[in-house]
Amino acid sequence: MGLMEGKTAVIFGVANKRSIAWGITSALVREGARVALNYQNERMEPGVRKLAKNLPDNTFVAQCDVTKKDEVDSFFEKLKDEVDGIDALVHCVAFAKREELGGRYVDTSYDGYELAQHVSAYSLVTLSKAAEPLMEGREGAIVALTYLGSVRVVPAYNVMGVAKAALEASVRYLAADLGPYGTRVNAISAGPIKTLSAMGVTGFSEILKAIGERAPMRRNVTQEDVGNTAAFLLSDWGKGVTGQVIYVDSGVSIMGA
Ligand code: NAD
Repeated sequence: MGLMEGKTAVIFGVANKRSIAWGITSALVREGARVALNYQNERMEPGVRKLAKNLPDNTFVAQCDVTKKDEVDSFFEKLKDEVDGIDALVHCVAFAKREELGGRYVDTSYDGYELAQHVSAYSLVTLSKAAEPLMEGREGAIVALTYLGSVRVVPAYNVMGVAKAALEASVRYLAADLGPYGTRVNAISAGPIKTLSAMGVTGFSEILKAIGERAPMRRNVTQEDVGNTAAFLLSDWGKGVTGQVIYVDSGVSIMGA
Protein backbone atom coordinates (compact mmCIF):
# COMPACT_ATOMS: atom_id res chain seq x y z
CA MET A 1 0.00 0.00 0.00
CA GLY A 2 1.30 3.48 -0.93
CA LEU A 3 2.12 6.15 1.67
CA MET A 4 -0.66 8.43 0.36
CA GLU A 5 -3.37 5.82 -0.24
CA GLY A 6 -6.85 7.29 0.38
CA LYS A 7 -5.50 10.85 0.66
CA THR A 8 -6.27 13.90 -1.47
CA ALA A 9 -3.42 16.27 -2.34
CA VAL A 10 -3.65 19.74 -3.87
CA ILE A 11 -0.52 20.84 -5.70
CA PHE A 12 0.06 24.44 -6.79
CA GLY A 13 2.85 25.22 -9.26
CA VAL A 14 2.94 22.74 -12.12
CA ALA A 15 4.03 24.66 -15.24
CA ASN A 16 5.64 21.85 -17.23
CA LYS A 17 7.32 18.47 -16.81
CA ARG A 18 10.47 20.07 -15.39
CA SER A 19 8.54 21.76 -12.53
CA ILE A 20 9.39 20.61 -9.01
CA ALA A 21 5.61 20.50 -8.51
CA TRP A 22 5.42 17.86 -11.24
CA GLY A 23 8.07 15.77 -9.44
CA ILE A 24 5.99 16.01 -6.26
CA THR A 25 2.75 15.22 -8.12
CA SER A 26 4.34 12.12 -9.65
CA ALA A 27 5.59 10.89 -6.25
CA LEU A 28 2.20 11.50 -4.58
CA VAL A 29 0.26 9.72 -7.35
CA ARG A 30 2.75 6.83 -7.25
CA GLU A 31 2.04 6.60 -3.48
CA GLY A 32 -1.71 6.42 -4.09
CA ALA A 33 -2.94 10.03 -3.67
CA ARG A 34 -5.77 11.57 -5.63
CA VAL A 35 -4.46 14.93 -6.85
CA ALA A 36 -5.77 18.38 -7.74
CA LEU A 37 -3.65 20.80 -9.78
CA ASN A 38 -3.87 24.48 -10.65
CA TYR A 39 -2.68 26.33 -13.73
CA GLN A 40 -1.76 29.98 -13.37
CA ASN A 41 -3.56 31.39 -16.43
CA GLU A 42 -5.02 30.53 -19.85
CA ARG A 43 -1.53 30.45 -21.37
CA MET A 44 -0.43 27.67 -18.97
CA GLU A 45 -3.69 25.69 -19.22
CA PRO A 46 -2.95 23.47 -22.27
CA GLY A 47 0.45 22.36 -20.90
CA VAL A 48 -0.93 21.44 -17.48
CA ARG A 49 -3.98 19.65 -18.93
CA LYS A 50 -1.71 17.67 -21.26
CA LEU A 51 0.45 16.56 -18.31
CA ALA A 52 -2.66 15.70 -16.30
CA LYS A 53 -3.66 13.22 -19.02
CA ASN A 54 -0.87 11.00 -17.59
CA LEU A 55 -2.67 10.97 -14.22
CA PRO A 56 -5.73 9.03 -13.02
CA ASP A 57 -9.13 10.16 -14.39
CA ASN A 58 -10.24 11.57 -11.02
CA THR A 59 -7.54 14.29 -11.19
CA PHE A 60 -8.96 17.79 -10.65
CA VAL A 61 -7.55 20.69 -12.71
CA ALA A 62 -8.62 24.35 -12.48
CA GLN A 63 -7.28 27.86 -12.97
CA CYS A 64 -5.83 29.75 -10.01
CA ASP A 65 -3.57 32.75 -9.94
CA VAL A 66 -2.60 32.83 -6.26
CA THR A 67 -2.62 36.65 -6.18
CA LYS A 68 -6.29 36.80 -7.24
CA LYS A 69 -8.70 36.20 -4.37
CA ASP A 70 -11.66 35.43 -6.65
CA GLU A 71 -9.66 32.72 -8.44
CA VAL A 72 -8.47 31.20 -5.14
CA ASP A 73 -12.04 31.17 -3.80
CA SER A 74 -13.43 29.67 -6.99
CA PHE A 75 -10.68 26.99 -7.11
CA PHE A 76 -11.50 25.76 -3.59
CA GLU A 77 -15.29 26.09 -4.13
CA LYS A 78 -15.11 23.84 -7.20
CA LEU A 79 -12.77 21.42 -5.44
CA LYS A 80 -15.12 21.19 -2.45
CA ASP A 81 -17.82 19.82 -4.77
CA GLU A 82 -15.54 16.96 -5.81
CA VAL A 83 -13.68 15.88 -2.68
CA ASP A 84 -14.67 15.35 0.95
CA GLY A 85 -11.52 17.03 2.25
CA ILE A 86 -7.84 17.81 1.67
CA ASP A 87 -5.01 15.87 3.32
CA ALA A 88 -2.05 17.54 1.63
CA LEU A 89 -1.36 21.00 0.22
CA VAL A 90 1.80 21.74 -1.78
CA HIS A 91 3.04 25.28 -2.49
CA CYS A 92 5.54 25.39 -5.38
CA VAL A 93 4.90 28.93 -6.51
CA ALA A 94 7.36 31.79 -6.89
CA PHE A 95 7.94 34.81 -9.08
CA ALA A 96 10.19 37.86 -9.27
CA LYS A 97 10.84 40.27 -12.10
CA ARG A 98 13.83 39.18 -14.15
CA GLU A 99 15.60 42.52 -13.57
CA GLU A 100 15.49 41.89 -9.79
CA LEU A 101 17.26 38.53 -10.11
CA GLY A 102 20.70 39.90 -10.86
CA GLY A 103 22.89 42.87 -9.99
CA ARG A 104 22.75 44.39 -6.49
CA TYR A 105 20.02 43.75 -3.90
CA VAL A 106 20.32 47.37 -2.83
CA ASP A 107 18.82 48.36 -6.19
CA THR A 108 15.57 46.38 -5.60
CA SER A 109 12.47 48.44 -6.48
CA TYR A 110 9.49 48.56 -4.13
CA ASP A 111 7.24 47.16 -6.87
CA GLY A 112 9.64 44.27 -7.44
CA TYR A 113 9.87 43.61 -3.70
CA GLU A 114 6.10 43.66 -3.22
CA LEU A 115 5.45 41.41 -6.22
CA ALA A 116 8.02 38.80 -5.11
CA GLN A 117 6.59 38.78 -1.58
CA HIS A 118 2.98 38.57 -2.76
CA VAL A 119 3.46 35.69 -5.20
CA SER A 120 6.22 33.78 -3.40
CA ALA A 121 5.49 34.23 0.32
CA TYR A 122 2.06 35.69 1.11
CA SER A 123 0.41 33.18 -1.22
CA LEU A 124 1.25 30.42 1.28
CA VAL A 125 -0.92 32.24 3.81
CA THR A 126 -3.69 32.72 1.19
CA LEU A 127 -3.71 29.03 0.24
CA SER A 128 -3.43 27.75 3.82
CA LYS A 129 -6.41 29.89 4.84
CA ALA A 130 -8.48 28.76 1.85
CA ALA A 131 -7.64 25.09 2.50
CA GLU A 132 -8.12 25.27 6.29
CA PRO A 133 -11.82 24.28 6.43
CA LEU A 134 -11.15 21.31 4.15
CA MET A 135 -8.06 20.18 6.10
CA GLU A 136 -9.29 20.58 9.67
CA GLY A 137 -9.05 17.46 11.79
CA ARG A 138 -7.66 15.22 9.03
CA GLU A 139 -4.06 15.05 10.35
CA GLY A 140 -2.88 16.40 7.03
CA ALA A 141 0.08 18.53 6.07
CA ILE A 142 1.27 21.49 4.00
CA VAL A 143 4.66 21.67 2.26
CA ALA A 144 6.24 24.75 0.65
CA LEU A 145 9.37 24.95 -1.48
CA THR A 146 12.22 27.21 -0.41
CA TYR A 147 15.90 27.80 -1.18
CA LEU A 148 19.18 28.41 0.69
CA GLY A 149 19.11 32.04 -0.49
CA SER A 150 16.76 32.70 2.46
CA VAL A 151 19.52 32.24 5.05
CA ARG A 152 22.72 32.85 3.02
CA VAL A 153 23.60 35.42 0.40
CA VAL A 154 23.38 33.69 -2.97
CA PRO A 155 24.53 36.07 -5.74
CA ALA A 156 21.64 37.27 -7.98
CA TYR A 157 18.94 35.55 -5.87
CA ASN A 158 18.39 38.92 -4.14
CA VAL A 159 14.70 39.78 -3.68
CA MET A 160 13.74 36.10 -3.92
CA GLY A 161 16.06 35.27 -0.98
CA VAL A 162 14.19 37.81 1.12
CA ALA A 163 10.82 36.40 -0.04
CA LYS A 164 12.00 32.88 0.88
CA ALA A 165 12.99 34.14 4.37
CA ALA A 166 9.41 35.40 4.78
CA LEU A 167 8.07 32.11 3.44
CA GLU A 168 10.12 30.09 5.98
CA ALA A 169 8.98 32.34 8.84
CA SER A 170 5.38 31.89 7.61
CA VAL A 171 5.87 28.12 7.76
CA ARG A 172 6.66 28.41 11.48
CA TYR A 173 3.76 30.76 12.27
CA LEU A 174 1.32 28.65 10.24
CA ALA A 175 2.58 25.49 11.94
CA ALA A 176 1.82 27.07 15.34
CA ASP A 177 -1.65 28.25 14.19
CA LEU A 178 -2.75 25.07 12.44
CA GLY A 179 -1.12 22.42 14.65
CA PRO A 180 -3.97 22.45 17.20
CA TYR A 181 -6.37 21.67 14.32
CA GLY A 182 -4.30 18.70 13.17
CA THR A 183 -2.40 20.25 10.25
CA ARG A 184 1.41 20.19 9.99
CA VAL A 185 3.35 22.79 7.95
CA ASN A 186 6.92 22.31 6.68
CA ALA A 187 9.25 23.55 3.96
CA ILE A 188 11.67 21.71 1.73
CA SER A 189 14.81 23.67 0.88
CA ALA A 190 15.77 22.15 -2.44
CA GLY A 191 19.16 22.34 -4.10
CA PRO A 192 19.17 23.91 -7.57
CA ILE A 193 17.15 22.12 -10.27
CA LYS A 194 16.93 23.30 -13.88
CA THR A 195 13.35 24.59 -14.22
CA LEU A 196 11.66 27.50 -16.02
CA SER A 197 11.83 29.75 -12.93
CA ALA A 198 15.39 28.81 -12.03
CA MET A 199 16.62 29.79 -15.48
CA GLY A 200 15.49 33.36 -14.71
CA VAL A 201 18.24 33.71 -12.06
CA THR A 202 21.38 35.26 -13.59
CA GLY A 203 24.22 32.66 -13.71
CA PHE A 204 21.96 29.72 -12.73
CA SER A 205 23.80 27.18 -14.94
CA GLU A 206 27.11 28.07 -13.24
CA ILE A 207 25.50 27.63 -9.79
CA LEU A 208 24.18 24.21 -10.85
CA LYS A 209 27.61 23.08 -12.05
CA ALA A 210 29.48 24.40 -8.98
CA ILE A 211 27.08 22.75 -6.54
CA GLY A 212 27.21 19.43 -8.37
CA GLU A 213 30.97 19.47 -7.83
CA ARG A 214 31.02 20.85 -4.24
CA ALA A 215 28.11 19.05 -2.55
CA PRO A 216 29.04 16.15 -0.24
CA MET A 217 27.09 13.81 -2.54
CA ARG A 218 28.84 15.27 -5.65
CA ARG A 219 25.60 15.54 -7.58
CA ASN A 220 22.64 17.83 -7.95
CA VAL A 221 19.27 16.78 -6.61
CA THR A 222 16.42 15.73 -8.89
CA GLN A 223 12.68 16.39 -8.96
CA GLU A 224 12.31 12.80 -7.78
CA ASP A 225 14.49 13.41 -4.68
CA VAL A 226 12.29 16.36 -3.74
CA GLY A 227 9.10 14.47 -4.60
CA ASN A 228 10.04 11.60 -2.32
CA THR A 229 10.81 13.89 0.64
CA ALA A 230 7.51 15.71 0.06
CA ALA A 231 5.68 12.36 0.06
CA PHE A 232 7.32 11.49 3.41
CA LEU A 233 6.43 14.86 4.97
CA LEU A 234 2.85 14.77 3.67
CA SER A 235 2.23 11.17 4.71
CA ASP A 236 1.71 9.70 8.17
CA TRP A 237 5.45 8.93 8.24
CA GLY A 238 6.02 12.65 8.83
CA LYS A 239 3.46 12.80 11.67
CA GLY A 240 5.89 14.20 14.25
CA VAL A 241 7.41 16.89 12.03
CA THR A 242 6.08 20.45 11.83
CA GLY A 243 7.43 23.97 11.43
CA GLN A 244 10.69 22.69 9.94
CA VAL A 245 12.81 23.45 6.91
CA ILE A 246 14.18 20.15 5.57
CA TYR A 247 17.18 20.45 3.22
CA VAL A 248 17.10 18.24 0.14
CA ASP A 249 20.30 19.54 -1.43
CA SER A 250 22.91 16.75 -1.59
CA GLY A 251 24.24 18.27 1.66
CA VAL A 252 25.68 21.43 0.10
CA SER A 253 24.23 23.66 2.87
CA ILE A 254 26.56 22.10 5.50
CA MET A 255 29.71 23.19 3.66
CA GLY A 256 31.72 26.13 5.03
CA ALA A 257 33.71 26.65 1.83
P1 NAD B 1 8.52 26.39 -12.19
O1 NAD B 1 8.71 27.59 -13.08
O2 NAD B 1 8.34 25.10 -12.85
O3 NAD B 1 7.34 26.64 -11.16
C1 NAD B 1 6.97 27.92 -10.68
C2 NAD B 1 5.47 27.94 -10.68
O4 NAD B 1 4.98 29.15 -10.08
C3 NAD B 1 4.86 27.89 -12.11
O5 NAD B 1 3.99 26.81 -12.20
C4 NAD B 1 4.10 29.20 -12.22
O6 NAD B 1 2.93 29.09 -13.00
C5 NAD B 1 3.78 29.44 -10.76
N1 NAD B 1 3.36 30.82 -10.51
C6 NAD B 1 4.07 31.96 -10.62
N2 NAD B 1 3.30 33.03 -10.35
C7 NAD B 1 2.06 32.54 -10.03
C8 NAD B 1 0.82 33.11 -9.67
N3 NAD B 1 0.67 34.45 -9.56
N4 NAD B 1 -0.24 32.30 -9.44
C9 NAD B 1 -0.13 30.94 -9.55
N5 NAD B 1 1.02 30.34 -9.90
C10 NAD B 1 2.09 31.12 -10.14
O7 NAD B 1 9.82 26.40 -11.26
P2 NAD B 1 10.25 25.51 -9.99
O8 NAD B 1 11.73 25.66 -9.91
O9 NAD B 1 9.67 24.16 -10.08
O10 NAD B 1 9.63 26.31 -8.77
C11 NAD B 1 8.77 25.71 -7.79
C12 NAD B 1 9.17 26.18 -6.40
O11 NAD B 1 10.43 25.62 -6.05
C13 NAD B 1 9.34 27.69 -6.26
O12 NAD B 1 8.87 28.11 -5.00
C14 NAD B 1 10.85 27.86 -6.31
O13 NAD B 1 11.30 29.05 -5.71
C15 NAD B 1 11.25 26.63 -5.52
N6 NAD B 1 12.65 26.21 -5.65
C16 NAD B 1 13.20 25.99 -6.86
C17 NAD B 1 14.53 25.59 -6.95
C18 NAD B 1 15.17 25.36 -8.29
O14 NAD B 1 16.40 25.36 -8.36
N7 NAD B 1 14.43 25.13 -9.33
C19 NAD B 1 15.29 25.40 -5.78
C20 NAD B 1 14.68 25.62 -4.54
C21 NAD B 1 13.35 26.03 -4.48
